[in-house]
Amino acid sequence: MTSGGSAESWRHQLHQLAETAFEEHRTAEFVAEVLRSLGLDVAVGVGGTGIVGTLRRGTSERAIGLRADMDALPIRERTGLSFASRHEGRMHACGHDGHMAMVLGAAEQLVDDDFDGAVHFVFQPAEEPGRGAAAMIGAGLFDRFPMEAIFGLHNMPGLPAGVLATRPGPIMAGEENFVITVTGRGGHASAPHHLIDPLVVAAHIIVALQSIVARSVDPVDSAVISCTDITTDGARNAVPSTVRITGDARNFAPDVSTLLETRLREVAERTAQAHGATAEVSYTREFATTVNHSEATAAAVRAAARTVGEEGCDAATSPIMASEDFGLFADRVPANFTLIGNGMPGERGGVPLHSHDYQFDDAILPAGIRYYRSIVHELLAPPSA
Ligand SMILES: [Zn+2]
Ligand SMILES: [Zn+2]
Repeated sequence: MTSGGSAESWRHQLHQLAETAFEEHRTAEFVAEVLRSLGLDVAVGVGGTGIVGTLRRGTSERAIGLRADMDALPIRERTGLSFASRHEGRMHACGHDGHMAMVLGAAEQLVDDDFDGAVHFVFQPAEEPGRGAAAMIGAGLFDRFPMEAIFGLHNMPGLPAGVLATRPGPIMAGEENFVITVTGRGGHASAPHHLIDPLVVAAHIIVALQSIVARSVDPVDSAVISCTDITTDGARNAVPSTVRITGDARNFAPDVSTLLETRLREVAERTAQAHGATAEVSYTREFATTVNHSEATAAAVRAAARTVGEEGCDAATSPIMASEDFGLFADRVPANFTLIGNGMPGERGGVPLHSHDYQFDDAILPAGIRYYRSIVHELLAPPSA
């Protein structure tokens, strides 16, 4: 059975519900109801609105997890679809409705399959702000539902529809945020010699930060530092006393992450000091790097090749600088994260994620479902008679 039948209908219903981080109440009810109707054991409220459905076969103690994310974005949908979001100002613009439908579709088919062990269908809240994985882990996900590996998929506009792409090692970057507060002495714009202008200091800091990636990070490593916002308490004719610079940093490795934070603090604090000002830096780690485990990835690649053939499967795709909450699961148990093509630019699924006219392509549902099912057959094969 390869049709997207019920999965497509579930996807459209979930699309209409579109709820944002930790508010996925109706979405969670819907998912739990489908899982129960398939006869699965269902745990609700696992880290807020998180859900785990469990399907057991045979006698093996082995278990794996298949994970979907549940949250939508605070975006007003402009797709014109007949099943567009009914929730004003909320939209599944990252395709998490499609991810849920794939995992539900896999559950539906696995109910009739022969395998030996347990499959935990993990539905996590709040992927977009990077808080849902921590909430589920904090609620005992891996203690209550021990699993030897967990697998996730994300649709990807710009990749041909249905192509599966992954790699061992880092596949999605860690995200870190920073706030630099520069304090000087504000006052009348006509008397700079009586002041310490924090805006000039902030300008120096922003330019100096560009040298970290260019001059401090090993050129064979990848990193980004972007200053994304600057605010002050100044006025047209008054030099401010404080300036706040906010920004975002990405990288793939703990030593690079440490280097970025250390150099950012040094550059900000010492540049400020050179001008008689002070800089206070807050540096926070928002998303873990998603690092694919080698054995889980080998199993994922075999399942992908069984699903879409060797030619539809890229086992050595380039890592991407965007971040994914799945990284925290992968930090705790062996894991693989795979991208599934949603269509090329100009096609229905080619519109970038997080756009108000983004569309998940239903045509990729069967491939996603077959892929998940193949992973279960790959790892929980019944003992041969
Ligand atoms: Zn997203
Ligand atoms: Zn997403």
